[in-house]
Amino acid sequence: DAVVHWFKCDLRTKDNKSLHLASEKAKEKGVPLIGMYIVSPQDFEAHLTAPVRVDFILRTLEVLKEDLAKLDIPLYVETVEKRKAIPGRILELLKEWGASHLFANVEYEVDELRREAKLVRSCLENGIAMDVVPDTCVVSPGELTSGSGRQYSVYSPWYRAWVAYIHQNATVLDLFDAPSKNPGSAREQCAKLFESKIPSAPENKKLTGEEKKRFKSMWPPGEQEAHERLKKFCDERIGGYQDHRNFPAEAATSSLSVHFKSGTLSARTAICAARGHNTTKKLDGGKQGIQTWISEVAWRDFYKHVMAHWPYVCMNKPFKPEYTNIEWEYNDEHFKAWCEGCTGYPIVDAAMRQLNHSGWMHNRCRMIVASFLAKHLLIDWRMGERYFMEHLIDGDFASNNGGWGFSASTGVDPQPYFRIFNPLLQSEKFDNDGEYIRKWIPELKGIEGKAIHEPYERGKGKGAKKAGYPERIVEHKASRDRCLARYKEGLGRD
Ligand code: FAD
Repeated sequence: DAVVHWFKCDLRTKDNKSLHLASEKAKEKGVPLIGMYIVSPQDFEAHLTAPVRVDFILRTLEVLKEDLAKLDIPLYVETVEKRKAIPGRILELLKEWGASHLFANVEYEVDELRREAKLVRSCLENGIAMDVVPDTCVVSPGELTSGSGRQYSVYSPWYRAWVAYIHQNATVLDLFDAPSKNPGSAREQCAKLFESKIPSAPENKKLTGEEKKRFKSMWPPGEQEAHERLKKFCDERIGGYQDHRNFPAEAATSSLSVHFKSGTLSARTAICAARGHNTTKKLDGGKQGIQTWISEVAWRDFYKHVMAHWPYVCMNKPFKPEYTNIEWEYNDEHFKAWCEGCTGYPIVDAAMRQLNHSGWMHNRCRMIVASFLAKHLLIDWRMGERYFMEHLIDGDFASNNGGWGFSASTGVDPQPYFRIFNPLLQSEKFDNDGEYIRKWIPELKGIEGKAIHEPYERGKGKGAKKAGYPERIVEHKASRDRCLARYKEGLGRD
């Protein structure tokens, strides 16, 4: 007999609800706990998982395997080519191991919910219990409804309800203990499972040797690393978060998104740590930096709540159906220039190059480049959403879809469609001395002063041209007018 925990986006031992419950059940029954992870190349393909993220997952699994081995818990990893075959293969494994109980944390994406429903049914038919428990959000989707009994589709009232709920139900911030050590006999009983190897990346998601090295040094894996990063952020930077978080040249944000995404850190643990540095237990009180950071972590919950309640957002549809009729430009050259960071707008280009080089982009810049693609270039926001997923180490469907919907004005609680970021003003406001631009665009390193924001117009372009930096692919005013006209037309407004 055995109890199994199925790891997915929760690659940690501490504060992992399902893993904790699985451990308790194994203890109660006096049987070993087995950890399992399924690598699915077809899932990676279907979900556009970035190679850098696949690499991070596989490196994280190595660390997790070691962490679990210290508790005499094996981590069994297997590759299943076809995603449809996953439930069937898991059932076979459970039978092979004589397992009586499978535990997993729920994932709210449509495909994953369907897969879990299928597995729950087949487990039941085979006399195996399966518990799928909510864990990834601090307040699980379904807990908060507005006074009129509807689902919230605006962040601010939802956030107030989220804070009130946590204050009223303090136990939601209780952290789950790491699993107990397996009985000594587990080593022998599960000897073969301990030998299981972490595979290398599937063919469709391989990195080059240089990329592998680069990302390895930029993004160390594992939950210990996540906890250290969190502690350092809370000790040194969270106090100034409110004042500094919008300036991409500063390392003022936590860079924890990769850990939230792979589950090496739980949102509960992060919020508890932040609150522990405050002068009050209230999430919306005390130091401003801490309040603001907690409210940003809450955005992650909000977008999962949106995905759970309006699952059609997973099916390529805008949250706001009235935005379906906008006529987009399908200009391949413009799209390519955007992807490569060659639009002639330095702040946009610096941001895209940061993404391409590091697998991550600062939040302010994510908003600037998303707005630029959807509004200045009038390119279907879904192409940008896709490009982000294919390149982000923290690529998360709900947050990415939410961020794109916000910026393109097609999503939940979005920017009004007539609010069009002026990239020049954004650049001057958030990268005033051009430090971020110079860091990411080597062609502009030698451009001095304010010319950095528009080298051709202000600096007469000499240095930029010589260094091979492109001229603007579109003009701001004409693009703005075209965007307003096209959105109005799509919405059927005068
Ligand atoms: P911090 O500023 O330290 O914030 C702490 C945590 O709060 C983040 O790690 C993240 O989990 C959460 N958070 C902060 N802002 C947001 C937000 N706007 N929406 C949801 N969660 C938030 N975030 C992702 O994790 N994955 C994505 O794929 C993703 N795509 C985005 C696409 C667009 C177009 C936009 C505008 C935003 C996107 N975001 C995404 C949100 C945000 O940009 C990142 O979470 C943030 O930049 C990560 O850096 P950090 O960990 O230093 O954040």
